[in-house]
Amino acid sequence: MKALVKAKAEPGLWMQDVPEPEIGPDDVLIRVRKTGICGTDVYIWNWDEWAQRTVPVPLVTGHEFAGEIVALGRDVTDLRVGQRCSGEGHLIGTTSRQSRSGRFHLDPETRGIGVNVQGAFAQYLRLPAFNVVPLPDTIPDEIGAILDPLGNAVHTALSYDLIGEDVLVTGAGPIGIMAAAVARHVGARHVVITDVNETRLQLATRVADVVPVNVAQEDLKSVIPRLGMNQGFDVGMEMSGNPAAFDQMVEAMVMGGRIAMLGIPPRPAPVDWSRIVFKALTIKGVYGREIFETWYKMIAMIENGLDLTPIITHRFAAEDFVQGFDTMRSGLSGKVVLDWS
Ligand code: NAD
Ligand code: ZN
Repeated sequence: MKALVKAKAEPGLWMQDVPEPEIGPDDVLIRVRKTGICGTDVYIWNWDEWAQRTVPVPLVTGHEFAGEIVALGRDVTDLRVGQRCSGEGHLIGTTSRQSRSGRFHLDPETRGIGVNVQGAFAQYLRLPAFNVVPLPDTIPDEIGAILDPLGNAVHTALSYDLIGEDVLVTGAGPIGIMAAAVARHVGARHVVITDVNETRLQLATRVADVVPVNVAQEDLKSVIPRLGMNQGFDVGMEMSGNPAAFDQMVEAMVMGGRIAMLGIPPRPAPVDWSRIVFKALTIKGVYGREIFETWYKMIAMIENGLDLTPIITHRFAAEDFVQGFDTMRSGLSGKVVLDWS
C-alpha cells in the first residue's frame, strides 16, 4: 500500500510502498479515506528536537483520519465491515492506576499512532477496536478526519462551565478557532480570540461569531470596556504556545478566573507567579482528549448544529502531500485535508 513514511532521520516525508498492516484478534483494519495534517506532523517532517527524541524511523506518520472498516480481528464483535469511522489515536495500556480507574487519557503508557507506532497517512490503518469511533451518516469523512484536533478544542473548552461567561482564546490556529466556536456553541457571552496573524483572525470570524483582536496592532485590554465587560475574562484558553500570549491572558483575567492551557511553549519560559496567586487564578493543563467522553460530546455538538466545515480551507489528493505540508507551513490555512480514496 501507499503510505507517507518518515523513512530517514532527516527533514522530509516520503510516499512509499509498504506492506499492509496485519491485525491481531482485537484490532480492525481501516481503509483510510481522509486525513488531516497536524502541527505535530509538520514537526515530524521538520525533524525538530522533539521528533528526533520521539519518533522511530522508519514510521508511517499521521494520526487524524476517517475511513471505513474493511476487516475485523477474530475477537471483535461490536463493529462491522463497511462501518465508517474515525478513532482515538492514543493507544493506552491497561496496567496504570489511571487506566484501571477509567481515566484513560491520563495513562502514562500511552503511545500515539503516527508518532510512536504506525500511523494513518496510508491506504490502510490497523487500530485496536477499542479505539474506533463509528461515524454517524450526518458527519462527512472530512469532518471525521479532523475530530482528533476538534477533540483537543472540545476537551479544553469544556474544562470549565462557559454558559454566560466571557471567554478569551489566545491563538487562532485551527484548534483555537474550533475552541472559540465550541465556546460560542455552548453559550458563552463574549468570545474574544487573539492572534498576530490577520488571515487566521479573519478565518475565525468565518467559522464562528467571535471578536478578533490582532494583538500586534491593538491592546487586548481595550476590548474589555468596548464589549461592556466588567473587569476582564472569566475563562481563558491558551492555544498559541506563545508565553507572551499567556502573560497577556493572565493580565486580562478577572479575579478568580479559570485558565485551560493546551498550547505547548517550545521551551521553558518565565512566569510571573505572584500575579497568578494574587488573582487567585485556576490553571489546568490539557492533554489530548478524554477517552471517550470528549468524542461523545463533540459528535453530539456537530449533530446539533456546530458547523466546522469552514475551518477546512485546503483539500489535496494524498500524492500532493508536499503542497499540503507547504500550505500548513505558510500559516495562511485552517485545516488541510488529504484524500486517500
Ligand atoms: P498553530 O501553531 O496552528 O496556532 C497557533 C497560533 O497562535 C498561530 O496562528 C499563531 O500566529 C498564534 N500566535 C502566535 N503568537 C501569538 C500571540 N502572542 N498571541 C496570540 N496568538 C499568537 O497551532 P494549533 O495546531 O492550532 O495548536 C494550538 C496549540 O496547541 C499549539 O501550541 C499545539 O502545539 C498545541 N497542542 C497541544 C495538544 C495537547 O494535547 N496539549 C494537542 C494538540 C496541539
Ligand atoms: Zn493532531
